[in-house]
Amino acid sequence: MKQSPSAAEATPTEVEETRAPYFAEQQPIRFGAAEQQATYRVWESQSQALGTRTEDRVSNSDEPRCSAQSSIQNPRSQQEHPLGFALGQLSGIYILAQNQQGLIVVDMHAAHERIVYERLKTAFDAQQMPTQPLLIPVSFAADTLDVATVEDEQEALLRLGFDIAPLSPTTLAVRSMPAMLKQSKAEAAAKEVLHELRDFGASRALTERRNELLATLACHSAVRANQQLSLPEMNAILREMEQTERADQCNHGRPTWFQITVDELDAMFMRGK
Ligand SMILES: [Zn+2]
Repeated sequence: MKQSPSAAEATPTEVEETRAPYFAEQQPIRFGAAEQQATYRVWESQSQALGTRTEDRVSNSDEPRCSAQSSIQNPRSQQEHPLGFALGQLSGIYILAQNQQGLIVVDMHAAHERIVYERLKTAFDAQQMPTQPLLIPVSFAADTLDVATVEDEQEALLRLGFDIAPLSPTTLAVRSMPAMLKQSKAEAAAKEVLHELRDFGASRALTERRNELLATLACHSAVRANQQLSLPEMNAILREMEQTERADQCNHGRPTWFQITVDELDAMFMRGK
């Protein structure tokens, strides 16, 4: 998969631009001192909850709490949500979450990329790619080969969820695109698809090159390094991971998350020795 620029090198502009449509409905949480303290208190009481018996946790569940807190203490939601609940972000790269066994560390870009990729693949194979018309078509300069590709490969483009039209001999416009991809990435995604169709031809691009093409599109649309996520946004990623096949590995075969159990932490701190 081409990754340019790589997640780690994402520029501030790109980070800003990539946060928009996927979580458009949610406001980012800015952590001030008060919120940080509150988060710490949640963490503290959740840690205590892990040590208590199941019945205690159930009997406590009537008390008013923030949603993350009540769900972590509810044993049923623990079973339903094996990846637990988000505590925060580390280094702009990892989501830290807590489940019944202890700490979960998620590589957020790799995990989110996998989610988008698997969804694209399922929709593509069912020939039911959900598309999103762009309110304002995104136009970009193109060479004659790109324009010719758009004219010749309409069927393949539509199958991939793209409606691209020539505006002039040197301009193309994206009118709609796959709903799972970020609208702010319309031009980059369209160019990626056009180059693939142009270099390999539609039939190869849609068969033996399919996975690579969809993986590249997913990479463009996944959350980026240093992208600030709110707790609900992080929890949304955890829930999607639980529902995504093969979410344990990223598109390159690397793990997307790790568990560090409380027992392992206790051993590191030589507790109970
Ligand atoms: Zn990627």
